[in-house]
Amino acid sequence: MTVLVKPKPIEGHKVRAFQMLIDGKWVDSAEGRTIERVAPGHGVTVSRYQAGTKADAEKAIAAARRAFDEGAWPRMTASERSLVLLRAADMIAERADELAYLDAIESGKPISQAKGELGGAADIWRYAAALARDLHGESYNTLGDGTLGVVLREAIGVVSIITPWNFPFLIVSQKLPFALAAGCTTVVKPSELTSASTLLLGEILEAAGVPSGVVNIITGTGPEVGAPMTTHPDVDMVSFTGSTGVGRLTMANAAQTLKKVSLELGGKNPQIVFPDANLDEFIDAAVFGAYFNAGECCNAGSRLILHRDIADEVTRRIAALSAKVKVGDPLDPETQVGAIITPQHLEKIAGYVSAASRDGAAVAHGGTALDLGMGQFMAPTILSSVRPDMAVAREEVFGPVLSVLTFETTEEAIRIANAIDYGLSAGVWSRDFDTCLTIGRRVRAGTIWMNTFMDGASELPFGGYRQSGLGRELGRHAVEDYTETKTLNMHMGARTGWWMPR
Ligand code: NDP
Repeated sequence: MTVLVKPKPIEGHKVRAFQMLIDGKWVDSAEGRTIERVAPGHGVTVSRYQAGTKADAEKAIAAARRAFDEGAWPRMTASERSLVLLRAADMIAERADELAYLDAIESGKPISQAKGELGGAADIWRYAAALARDLHGESYNTLGDGTLGVVLREAIGVVSIITPWNFPFLIVSQKLPFALAAGCTTVVKPSELTSASTLLLGEILEAAGVPSGVVNIITGTGPEVGAPMTTHPDVDMVSFTGSTGVGRLTMANAAQTLKKVSLELGGKNPQIVFPDANLDEFIDAAVFGAYFNAGECCNAGSRLILHRDIADEVTRRIAALSAKVKVGDPLDPETQVGAIITPQHLEKIAGYVSAASRDGAAVAHGGTALDLGMGQFMAPTILSSVRPDMAVAREEVFGPVLSVLTFETTEEAIRIANAIDYGLSAGVWSRDFDTCLTIGRRVRAGTIWMNTFMDGASELPFGGYRQSGLGRELGRHAVEDYTETKTLNMHMGARTGWWMPR
């Protein structure tokens, strides 16, 4: 399938040109090349970025290194850093509409959803500000009269932060404030498709009082500017969110200099539904879980594992509700599902649906691209009669495509849920406490929702088992992730030498 993108100008929008932030200065790329971003919902150019190069990445890393080794940020008190983060949170909230608009036009997500994400992001910055002041080590006064042990938590150093296009502002907010809270300095690379809101964040952080060189933001492609951020010896840690393939490459690159790596990767998240569940609530959550952010979401509930007794009825009801979901202009406040990120990605999604149909799945709803006279869109799609071995049941489609599988026993449901490479999240629906807890304990995933789906909070750790990632973001340990542990082993009184009898 070749996707034809129809242009529709955005009223009042002028193409916005951006520079990169390196060492406190807004600069063009070393080679002066630029990247144009075409809005997925409108098919017209909306932003122009600098196409950064390896040389730009190296300048940014050098600036971050200097700011860490010689600058004020790691040396100021946690209270001072916390104040800067709180000021940043206030400014994010003040400019939320502008940031949400940029995320909506560049990613194609609905504006109402983008505004919700900005509210969540401001909350994360405030949470990180609070955690900054709670970072402490341990002391051991139990090692005998002659010894005192103190375990310090020190900022790890220079952190490379690489983010994807599906939640541009939210994902950088799951990483950067915690790195800053710890006293680290950073080089940030947003996706080349959705860089605008991260660049605006650079302006906000400068105004909030983050010193020069502490946050450097470079734009460009992954292979050109992302790769050096994962290999450079002056980088101490890489925090990456994106595909499992690039996550694997990032880890291999970082291994050359044994950097710490934190990875938030793909998911193929099941919702397991028992006949005693509140089906009205589940059906709403199934539609939300599958089509939220057009399914371009690592947490998407893209696999339903339904008990055989309810499968036909539930599939029919989900199809009926899917027909009511409003797909359309990302800037329309009524839109629930926006555009697909690129024409190539839409082709990939449609390819999964065709392959599944060829392999014996039935299209219970949707199944095709939608012509809305603008941009590129995919119909909310339900595939029934999906077998666990099909690609559509095992791989991350990253589109509004829901696969329906069935089970008879709890053991079978757990087996199907666990029989893939991913383990990011899962849901279980039942009114029975034992059933929920059995699934909760036996399904191997970083988050298990019980009688709900895709809820979150800054306090709750997020991340995956197996090939869904490494490490956890958010939660009370999020700042510690950006630290090294140092032991101070202190001796008091006369020391007995190793050659002297004790
Ligand atoms: P990628 O993993 O390619 O991109 C994520 C980030 O990594 C982007 O900033 C990208 O840069 C950068 N990057 C790409 N190549 C390298 C490299 N060699 N070294 C360092 N950084 C690099 O994801 P895509 O955006 O291409 O999406 C592809 C698929 O990944 C999706 O279809 C989906 O399945 C999955 N995905 C999962 C996400 C998640 O949240 N778990 C998020 C996004 C995607 P740039 O794109 O600017 O070149």
